[in-house]
Amino acid sequence: MGESVKDRLAAVKKSIEECAKACKRDKEVKLICVSKTKPSEMIMEAYESGERDFGENYVQELCAKAEELPKDIIWHMIGPLQKNKVRKVVKYAEYIHAVDSVELAAFIDKEAERIGKVQKIMLELNMAGEESKHGFKPEEVIDAVKEIAPLKNIKLTGLMCIPPLAVSADDNRVYFRQIKSLEKKINDMGICDSELTELSMGMSEDYKCAIEEGASYIRIGTAIFGARDYSKK
Ligand SMILES: *Cc1c(COP(=O)(O)O)cnc(C)c1O
Repeated sequence: MGESVKDRLAAVKKSIEECAKACKRDKEVKLICVSKTKPSEMIMEAYESGERDFGENYVQELCAKAEELPKDIIWHMIGPLQKNKVRKVVKYAEYIHAVDSVELAAFIDKEAERIGKVQKIMLELNMAGEESKHGFKPEEVIDAVKEIAPLKNIKLTGLMCIPPLAVSADDNRVYFRQIKSLEKKINDMGICDSELTELSMGMSEDYKCAIEEGASYIRIGTAIFGARDYSKK
């Protein structure tokens, strides 16, 4: 594996492309470079290689980077979001991936209205029923979609999940499949004005499997930027 961001990114992109081609999905898979904890210089290295979609988990960090870095970067807020931080995130994020309650969606809607924006969001699913994770249970999400769909300043674009840490590549296939079929169910019911099109799933360890099972946005950090060091935070 190459040492620079540029080299690692090129290797990851090649692997994504091969995988997506093999399952005839090569026009449908988009990469989000997950840059949390990483310095702006590393983001700029990926930017200069042509990447525009970047993902951040922490509100403060997202805002600081969005202020500093080129304005054509598309910021994805992929971390859990507290209601008291909605204002900052709505200002900068193109997508908010991990909306995990109707109440949070209503807050986002209000803030988007205030600044005259339609905020794109996804709903986070807790597919494995993990205590430690956020997100709707699969059996709750349809009712949530019914409540969120009428909100005028939100565009519900799809679903997102963070399944358990994958030990082997196939471990999370079952969850990826389930979330794909949930998406279909929601679309078949015609609850939203426009169909859900985005499935945000797959990370460094399991993205190939996620692509095979229908991911539209894969979120990759470590394989591009290297391991994260949280001790400095
Ligand atoms: C950190 C993070 C990622 C990236 O994970 P890697 O294993 O480093 O690729 C993706 N999605 C979310 C929600 C994350 O928090």
